[in-house]
Amino acid sequence: MKNKEKKVILGYLNHHTIGRQNTFMPLGIGLIAAYSQSRFGNDIDIQLFDDPNAIFQEIPHIQPDVVGLTNYCWNSELNRLVFKKAKKINPSVVCIAGGPEFPRDLKECKEYLANRPEIDFYCYAEGEIAFSKLLENILENISLDLLKSVPHENMMSINPSNGELVKGNYEQIQDLNIVPSPYIAGIMEQWFTGEYSPSIQTMRGCPFTCSYCWTGVNPQNLRTYDLERIKLELEYIAVRMHKYPLVLLSIVDSNFGMYERDEEIAEYIRELWKKYDWPNAFDVTLGKSNYDRILRVNEKLNKRLLINCALQSMNLKTLAAIKRKNLPPDVFVNLQTEIKKQGMGSVTELIVPLPYETKESFIQGMKFVINNNVKLVPYTLMLLKGTDIASQEARNKHQMVTKFRLVPHQFGEYDQQKCFEMEEVCVGTDTITFHEYCEIRGLCFIMSLYSHKQYDVVFRLITESGALMSDSVLYLWDLIKSGKTGLSNLYFQYLGEVKSELWESPEDIKAFYSKEENYKKLLTGELGDNLLRKYLTKARLEKFPESLDLAFHTLPLITNHPLTDEMVEAVGAAKEWMIATRNIGELLDNKYEWKSVKLLSLPFDVNSWYEAGSVSKPLVTYKKSTNYQICYDFTRIDNIFVQLSKIYGTDKTFLIGKMLINYPVQDLWKICKPAS
Ligand code: SF4
Repeated sequence: MKNKEKKVILGYLNHHTIGRQNTFMPLGIGLIAAYSQSRFGNDIDIQLFDDPNAIFQEIPHIQPDVVGLTNYCWNSELNRLVFKKAKKINPSVVCIAGGPEFPRDLKECKEYLANRPEIDFYCYAEGEIAFSKLLENILENISLDLLKSVPHENMMSINPSNGELVKGNYEQIQDLNIVPSPYIAGIMEQWFTGEYSPSIQTMRGCPFTCSYCWTGVNPQNLRTYDLERIKLELEYIAVRMHKYPLVLLSIVDSNFGMYERDEEIAEYIRELWKKYDWPNAFDVTLGKSNYDRILRVNEKLNKRLLINCALQSMNLKTLAAIKRKNLPPDVFVNLQTEIKKQGMGSVTELIVPLPYETKESFIQGMKFVINNNVKLVPYTLMLLKGTDIASQEARNKHQMVTKFRLVPHQFGEYDQQKCFEMEEVCVGTDTITFHEYCEIRGLCFIMSLYSHKQYDVVFRLITESGALMSDSVLYLWDLIKSGKTGLSNLYFQYLGEVKSELWESPEDIKAFYSKEENYKKLLTGELGDNLLRKYLTKARLEKFPESLDLAFHTLPLITNHPLTDEMVEAVGAAKEWMIATRNIGELLDNKYEWKSVKLLSLPFDVNSWYEAGSVSKPLVTYKKSTNYQICYDFTRIDNIFVQLSKIYGTDKTFLIGKMLINYPVQDLWKICKPAS
């Protein structure tokens, strides 16, 4: 028998002790809330949280009957504290976790739940209907012990009477449109403050089966939301985001741009942009095939997407082991040529160390990437719970060496308890030693630095001189490792932290960071950051002239023929032009006169050469004394800082580092015009 209204708390929690790593509106819990509300109306009172401090503060006042939290590697320890707090306030509260941070092997599932008695149910698949069905039983006031002893759709629990795992049937939602839009239902209103990016989903499922990915090993049918609903949702969001033109739109599909209807969605977004001047930036995981269509989609989105042609590895044996099929190399090369021709940016990802990959095969893959002028985004292999690659079988087969590290900036102190989020990573296999793994991380740092748009002039000059970018970077790597360059210190600091961030067990991490002196280092940002982002940002902001000196120094050393005097002069002019227009480290200097216009005289018209793009003639043919006026578009940059500081905080180094992930670096460059 139903009685009073039940109080439900849903949370998608993110630590933001220093800076905010995740700035997206909590779509997942919004969908769950929207569906439950549509079913139970006034029988339930649902409140949504993303701020851990707020949920700790509110639990004693709300005294919830149900707490549901989404569980990822970056918040699962925090969630445990919240569940424990809720149980302390109300021992009969029903605590439900859901999300990918859960094993797949049933023995491990049982162990997971047995070790976390504060979790009553784990929702191991789609949550909207499963959660509401469980809620229906809770509304009937069925006792918690009885609830846990019988199976519920997509849920697992431990039967209190015998300690056995109870697993409910796996079900998928057939028609996604039965779940109302949480935006249109008014559930997401509290997040339209300019501090959060709206997220939408246009379809669910992925046709691929990558073994290191949760989605890949839990295949779902492809299902779509109606286009009319998506359009209504987008318009609803755009009206509210009009005031925050720089806040990005996130599309959480696994393969956006790959399907015919994505063109219509992109077209509609373009119409919204014309009307509302939003969105101007995107966070999107693009499809892994149908690149013609993806390029058309990007064209419609004002070329604001970075085309990610993720490779992960170029080693065929590795690709077979991780059940992944890449574009054939010649198709990849043609695609990159087309991307450049259309003036778009592109990135690719590589993961190290995957099964069967060797140091040599990984470097081969990196060379291929960088010689095609594609920005490299390298990742260490994460062993995500429930994925094939994290299984005991895979660990044994490939003799994986694994360590633990803090998830970047994911820590905090709540109710006088310190809390740290940790991830397990692979740092060696039977084909890559730990030493080689560290060497590869060092090379990836250099490759990532020089494959960035900030250095695209270097790539063009190297190509014009008939040399290969990879030869230049490998040469640079040797020089940097010799310790005698302006980048060497930074490089060795980076490698030092690559090693010192790894621990044997989660307990070791907790013990180390719980000490006051170490915790302070987390609070100041000295420790605990994403190392690649931290050091790339330092290099780009603090060492730009030094990094250019090095790159230009190697140019004559890697070409097969000596540079003519004219080429040397042209290269010198290009370097001067780059330092004058792209030294974005100046933006950190409070005394720098942003508004001042500088004059630059060069013996070559470098600006026209650059603007002519990849089809231009060589720079030496642009010999012409040219005067430029150079200045920042300070209104635009001020606007960027004001808007993005609401999201990432006021530490400009951190803000620019985060900004360079989803926004074009060109937005920070100076404008260069011929002086009249
Ligand atoms: S394509 Fe992406 S989402 Fe799909 S299985 Fe592979 S990594 Fe996962």
